[in-house]
Amino acid sequence: MTYSTKYEAVIGLEIHAQLATDTKLFCGDATAFGAEPNTQISPITLGHPGTLPKTNAKAVEYAIKMGLACGSRIENENYFARKNYFYPDLPKGYQISQHTTPICVGGQILIETTEGEKLVQLNRIHLEEDAGKSIHDLSPTHTFIDLNRAGTPLIELVTEPCIHSAEDAFQFVTEIRKLIRWIGVCDGNMEEGSLRCDANISVRLKGDTKLGTRVEVKNLNSIRNIKKAIEVEIERLIEITEKGEKIIQQTRSFDANNDTTFSIRDKEDANDYRYFPDPDLAPFKLNDDYIKEIQKSLPALPHSLKKEWKEKLGISEYDAAQLTEDKSESDFYAQWIQHTNQYKAAANWILGPLREYIKESSISYQHLTPLLPYLSELLDLVASNQLSFSVAANKVLPGIITTPQSPLQYATENNLLQNNSEDEISAWIDAVLANMPEQVAAYQQGKKALLGLFMGEVKKISKGKADPKITIQLLTHKLK
Ligand code: ADP
Ligand code: MG
Repeated sequence: MTYSTKYEAVIGLEIHAQLATDTKLFCGDATAFGAEPNTQISPITLGHPGTLPKTNAKAVEYAIKMGLACGSRIENENYFARKNYFYPDLPKGYQISQHTTPICVGGQILIETTEGEKLVQLNRIHLEEDAGKSIHDLSPTHTFIDLNRAGTPLIELVTEPCIHSAEDAFQFVTEIRKLIRWIGVCDGNMEEGSLRCDANISVRLKGDTKLGTRVEVKNLNSIRNIKKAIEVEIERLIEITEKGEKIIQQTRSFDANNDTTFSIRDKEDANDYRYFPDPDLAPFKLNDDYIKEIQKSLPALPHSLKKEWKEKLGISEYDAAQLTEDKSESDFYAQWIQHTNQYKAAANWILGPLREYIKESSISYQHLTPLLPYLSELLDLVASNQLSFSVAANKVLPGIITTPQSPLQYATENNLLQNNSEDEISAWIDAVLANMPEQVAAYQQGKKALLGLFMGEVKKISKGKADPKITIQLLTHKLK
């Protein structure tokens, strides 16, 4: 960015996450994605007169979980309010949301950036219901309405205007997606709309403390688009400012096909939604014991696990970060280190051969958990040179996963154990060298790189069983 020394970008994000409850926020309609349109819509979802909404306790619990994971303060006294507006996909004519008292107040998220760790401050997390969907691309003349989504529980997470680059916004959303999946409150699937983001962006001269006029870019549906939209918007706002023109407070949309934003509407400052407490829903009180119970149910969070593993197990920053990306992988490692003290080797195996195996087969880490004693034995066989790493990873691992059994037994039966006998290795080497007199001569005249070729040949004729350390010693000795 050419003007980065003169201007500072200011970004605040609003993230909507659909809570992973089976049913809606105020009734028992299913929330499953992808059903036939308008099949998950009871009269309560449609807001028919005489129906009574009832709060889904699981949704409240999930919102609290997220708040606790972010270090927010949980509000004890809560109520739902009606936010009144008309839209075709809002059948009741109002959205049930929280107004003056969001369920979670404040909090922060640690992100890692190229400039080190940063804290992004949250303003609040509140509970609300989702609207239905207007479908514009099925017909050139008509808009269709699918109300299945109406009433799905959402949390809206709002940051302070404290993010200053598209890259940091990208890191923040990545972190949020990881966290909601980690604690199991949302599937984080942006393609299906489970996680959506609006970005508020303004620019100001560096050193200014007053916020500039903001634009809001709505409904960004991938992390890549969030980053790209913010980048182009910052540039656009700076260009307008450089020309001496005034920025208009606007709501804009992002066109991912050509990486531009366009105006949807000029935003008046105060929308009048005529909020009032929903008379059909009693205020709900959360007592501290209940909140503490939820706190206790939270799993260890990625950052603290990462720190603990780095410090206590001596694994690298990179490995620790990798192992705390995905909960099932991280759980597997946590269990494995109960069975072995080869912490680094176990990490390498997960990040290497096991990930690979899991990617290519349809099994999960959960399937592998009963095999942990065998997998630990496998680490020992490699550490004691009884198996080469590549034979262990490529042959023994698939073998013992397909038919659970001791790797020693499998390797013995399939003649895969590494050979440490100097006599046998010596015989293999002699056979190889006898076959390659020209290369031997070239080596002896100084082409030392040929050593790799000889090693490879010994590996081949020994079917990978020649211990490489012994091989290299004998080989260099014989070639002198
Ligand atoms: P609204 O409810 O009207 O969208 P909020 O005050 O709740 O407005 O703010 C929404 C988001 O916009 C928050 O994330 C906030 O940090 C951010 N924001 C507010 N003012 C600015 C600004 N001038 N520049 C950038 N972000 C802003
Ligand atoms: Mg807003």
